[in-house]
Amino acid sequence: MSAGNDFDLLIIGGGMVGASLAVALQSTALRIAIVEAVPYGQPDQPSYDERSVALAYGSRRILAAMGLWNALADHVAPIHRIHVSDQGHWGALRMDCRERRRDALGYVVANRDLGRVLFDRLGCSATVKMIAPASLQALTLSEDGVEVDVETIAGLRRLRARLLVGADGAQSRVRQLAAIPAIRHDYGQTAIIANVSTERAHEGLAFERFTAQGPLAMLPMTEGRCSLVWTRHSEHAQSLLAADDRSFIAALEQDFGHRLGRIRRLGSRAAYPLSLVYSEQLTATRLALIGNAAHSLHPVAGQGFNLGLRDVAALAECLVTAASDGRDPGAAALLGEYARWREGDQQRVIWMTDTLVGLFANNNRALAWLRNHGMLAFDMMPAVKYHFMEQMMGLAGRQPKLACGLPL
Ligand SMILES: Cc1cc2nc3c(=O)[nH]c(=O)nc-3n(C[C@H](O)[C@H](O)[C@H](O)COP(=O)(O)OP(=O)(O)OC[C@H]3O[C@@H](n4cnc5c(N)ncnc54)[C@H](O)[C@@H]3O)c2cc1C
Repeated sequence: MSAGNDFDLLIIGGGMVGASLAVALQSTALRIAIVEAVPYGQPDQPSYDERSVALAYGSRRILAAMGLWNALADHVAPIHRIHVSDQGHWGALRMDCRERRRDALGYVVANRDLGRVLFDRLGCSATVKMIAPASLQALTLSEDGVEVDVETIAGLRRLRARLLVGADGAQSRVRQLAAIPAIRHDYGQTAIIANVSTERAHEGLAFERFTAQGPLAMLPMTEGRCSLVWTRHSEHAQSLLAADDRSFIAALEQDFGHRLGRIRRLGSRAAYPLSLVYSEQLTATRLALIGNAAHSLHPVAGQGFNLGLRDVAALAECLVTAASDGRDPGAAALLGEYARWREGDQQRVIWMTDTLVGLFANNNRALAWLRNHGMLAFDMMPAVKYHFMEQMMGLAGRQPKLACGLPL
């Protein structure tokens, strides 16, 4: 085995989460490789596509501690306030960053801009090797190390590592090849995304509106635009995707109302069928799962990437602590520590997003009454609201060093 194929850490998947882990660890002595099927910049790259991501306040801290925030700052729009409503009902809920004495509740950034910043950083790294396009075909996990076969343009290539990280998304091949079972639930919903311009300025106000077919989010972006994530029953989503712009805007205005005035412009649309997929185990022999490979969520409340970034911060801290003691990065004790650390946060967020979808997708009148009174009561119970906002802002539970703004 040549040295060029031997690594301490092999990350399968260079999407937003896998690339973030490599950046977090690039100034350590670990020899790192990322295997990515679709290189950054290609039109069909699935992680850095037309979507935008709402970054929680805690994610800003992690990205800042990784030295990325200054490069991102010109591309993010702050969320100062959030307005939550239930279509056809009077209840509403408001959150304001001033309640938490912060300058923002979160930030919105286009996935492509985040990708550019991550790859600019990895491009000048001496410790991280990008192997792309290359696709995982087979793996062998043993107490001694990991062997992986990847398909490259030049043919099959065998790589060896002390730790394998699965960051290859919801349909994770790593998870399948390691025979780790996953729980799946199809929501029967599809998210339609597009950038829109509205008559009135958003002024940092984000909307989450629950409709009978699913939640609709309108998030503030740079240049006065908004990022739309509109969830519909899958059978209805197709006709909306096929509709001309005028009919699409009319249907959108019907669901969203005129909270920001008329919709003036509509960008290109894309669709994402939604399901919950989460792994029954976060680790196996010399293997850790992070990001969507561990948990792929409904986008309601915009939590998926934020949760994945907290996986990154926790795993990076476990690895750096182990390295400073001269310990093996693939040791079972280290992986056990990572899994125990992340389980609680992941289960809370999975439960919260799944419950929100179920609660608001139900038209039962008694439940609608409860929802509306619940939203009113929520505003009058500062302690409950505080804990909910902590979770949404990614500040709940044990915080990794990066999330406290500290270096690893
Ligand atoms: C409509 C929508 C809106 C969202 N909005 C938000 C939001 O506002 N806030 C938020 O926090 N989250 C949001 N999310 C969730 C967020 O997009 C995901 O959590 C995030 O993309 C997960 O990143 P990842 O790197 O784990 O996985 P992915 O983005 O799926 O990346 C996986 C990578 O692995 C590569 N890969 C796959 N298989 C292989 C293989 N065999 N070999 C090599 N490489 C492979 C892929 O090419 C890809 O680059 C949203 C999701 C959707 C669908």
